[in-house]
Amino acid sequence: MFVFITIIFVFVAYTISIKFVYYRYSQLLPHLRNKISTPLYTVGNASFCPTQERSSALSRNSEEDAPRVTASETRALFVTAHPDDECMFFAPTILKLVESQAAVYLLCLSTGNYNSDGLQRKRELLDSCAVLGIPSEHVTIIDDKELPDDPTVQWSTALISSLILKHIRNYSISVLLTFDGSGVSGHANHIAIYVTLRHLASAGRLPEGCQILSLHSISLLRKYVSVLELPVSWLLPSDFCCIIGWKEYKRAKKAMLCHRSQLLWFRRLYILFSRYMFVNTFQAITVETKNVKIY
Ligand SMILES: [Zn+2]
Repeated sequence: MFVFITIIFVFVAYTISIKFVYYRYSQLLPHLRNKISTPLYTVGNASFCPTQERSSALSRNSEEDAPRVTASETRALFVTAHPDDECMFFAPTILKLVESQAAVYLLCLSTGNYNSDGLQRKRELLDSCAVLGIPSEHVTIIDDKELPDDPTVQWSTALISSLILKHIRNYSISVLLTFDGSGVSGHANHIAIYVTLRHLASAGRLPEGCQILSLHSISLLRKYVSVLELPVSWLLPSDFCCIIGWKEYKRAKKAMLCHRSQLLWFRRLYILFSRYMFVNTFQAITVETKNVKIY
């Protein structure tokens, strides 16, 4: 009897804690929002007009000439390795940022051509982004032989660096979001992006005010207990946390279903049980803004 009452008590307490954490963190709270909305690029006293700035930044013919202006809004760039990374791992954050009127961009560094279906996967990625709220003009898919969808190939840090830096410059990016050193799933292509961003940050090659957030990799047990993992994410330290509710989960699921070529049985289980469908927690990478000079 005592054991039974204890089990019931623990169950009720855990359910309450999940609800508490959800209501506490399901909104992009002001202090979290401030963390990723640091004003950047300033040119004289130029006034910032989001519409003008965005339209010029999106003009493919004048990318190099995009003006650097004062931007008080969040301009987030997700850097991923393959089509489907955006919804498998980052859906809660993308949905929250889009909802909070941030300008959200995606740079996908490969076409996901591992099974020679790169063309189809490109289309699926654009469909998925449309569901998540990222317009197609904000999506860039790199098709480069040096960046194949292949965990056995070491991606070039120099090439990834130049692609990311070009995006930061052209779209006045204020925050970069990507994987951490374990790549969430351990995929070498994911880890290569983290290594490159770490290098850019420590070498002082990112513009002042630009932040990097790396998505926490977690243990298998935590990864596949869906919303039950919420209190654990809340208790453990993180620099940025995004949690979504049922309505947003349905959008994330719809985005996942856009990747029709990847819908194997285990992917359907992932949609049901992965904690990344509900929760994202990030760690900020320290960005050095100046190179140290020794005289
Ligand atoms: Zn991937």
